[in-house]
Amino acid sequence: MSQPETLVIVGAGQAGGRAALTLCEAGFTGRIVLIGDEAHLPYERPPLSKALLKGETDLAACSLFSEASFIASGIEHFKCVRVSAIDPAAHTLRLSDGSSLGYSKLLLAMGGASRTLDLQGRGFNNVRYLRTADDAVTLEKKLTPGTRLVVVGGGFIGLEVASSARERGCEVTVLEAGSRLAARALPERLSEALLTLHRRKGVTIHLGAQIARLNGTDRVQSVALASGECVPCDVLLVGIGMQPNVELAREAGLSTGSGIKVDAYLRTSAPDVYAAGDVCEFPRGDGQLHRQETWRNAEAQGRLAALNMLGQSEPFNSVPGFWSDHYEFGLQTVGVLAADARIIEREGAEDGFLLLYMDAHSKLVGASGWGVGNSVAKDIKLCERLIESQVSLPVEQLADASVSLKGLLRGAHA
Ligand code: FAD
Ligand code: NAP
Repeated sequence: MSQPETLVIVGAGQAGGRAALTLCEAGFTGRIVLIGDEAHLPYERPPLSKALLKGETDLAACSLFSEASFIASGIEHFKCVRVSAIDPAAHTLRLSDGSSLGYSKLLLAMGGASRTLDLQGRGFNNVRYLRTADDAVTLEKKLTPGTRLVVVGGGFIGLEVASSARERGCEVTVLEAGSRLAARALPERLSEALLTLHRRKGVTIHLGAQIARLNGTDRVQSVALASGECVPCDVLLVGIGMQPNVELAREAGLSTGSGIKVDAYLRTSAPDVYAAGDVCEFPRGDGQLHRQETWRNAEAQGRLAALNMLGQSEPFNSVPGFWSDHYEFGLQTVGVLAADARIIEREGAEDGFLLLYMDAHSKLVGASGWGVGNSVAKDIKLCERLIESQVSLPVEQLADASVSLKGLLRGAHA
């Protein structure tokens, strides 16, 4: 394996941090520079809307590395530094401190930023977003019992924050523009399960909500809806999606679409430049380019990009998946939740269920499970193996929860 001298990673998040660690573990002995505009060591974002917001954990526990192991790794971490320009021809970067840095190979792992709400030209000081650890620490302090939290957006951020805030005794209202919750990522059955659970826990949810006016001067005091209702507000949390940080790549002339375009090896259109994580648009088996905004994708792509930078030549073909937590319930998915798939439901314990996504050849392409705690984990793991096995399954029997997935898997390998 021929090893380049200086490997630079832009973005010290999940994908960037994992890539840096992988380079060390693979025995790379050259210089590794990890550049991030945040003030922290790379950390995991999932706890920000869950355990950290509930005050059950702190930022140190979310870190990908301990301070000591990070120092021992020899990775040079530039904190609070932004990369402001890339010159792919010269293999150099310009940094926000005015310096420049050369690279042999470069990984772009800049993630994304919260999509912002139109505040009707006004500067309110109680409007919050949740993308970074600093956002979470600030929001956590505001979630005191009785606080009237209005959440704009009934996606993952909105609903996980609603759940954490209810557990802290806040009064929560969710305003979702669409006709159902988390519609971009989930099928109707799961949107319904989320709606039922959140309402049962005391969250007021408006679907098809249109904000007509934000009332207040320096603070949003209430939100007037087009329907005529007016929702009182102490804190307004906006969770209306994220936008990938593609500008740096676009300005450098790299091929971009909704993300930075890469090939199956995570190589961008510029020589020696790779991309991974939320910012990356990559090909899947269907020949289309996809972008994923999940922990599992950032982990897998960060790792693979690092190994490919070291000379390995493996295509990216990890099975996708994500999870989301709401009160005592957990949602877990694996594979592709294809809109055109035939969906088969299997009953689970305590209001739980498993949805199986079948293609036209009776093969499993995706699965999503809903249940108390981690109860669906075992089935989701079995589904992952069934997806990988690519065997045709007896579709007519799958709805019967007494038909063992393990048995089907054994049959697949017989
Ligand atoms: P990021 O983790 O966003 O890291 C990118 C880093 O690059 C950031 O630190 C950014 O500040 C930095 N950066 C950007 N531009 C520059 C620049 N020019 N110079 C230097 N640095 C730069 N996924 C799940 O599957 N399950 C969950 O339960 C889940 N929960 C989540 C909860 C929250 C609150 C959030 C925000 C996300 C959650 N996700 C979850 C999604 C998951 O965390 C992301 O998919 C993952 O963090 C993406 O990793 P990344 O490395 O691509 O980007
Ligand atoms: P999201 O999942 O895309 O959800 C945003 C929701 O807000 C959508 O339902 C959207 O409806 C709605 N919306 C958009 N504009 C609106 C408006 N003006 N008023 C009311 N509703 C509006 O994005 P997110 O929840 O903000 O999450 C941001 C990022 O964090 C994503 O990358 C997400 O994957 C990640 N995240 C993941 C998890 C997880 O996987 N468990 C948890 C937290 C965060 P339309 O779809 O109709 O536009």
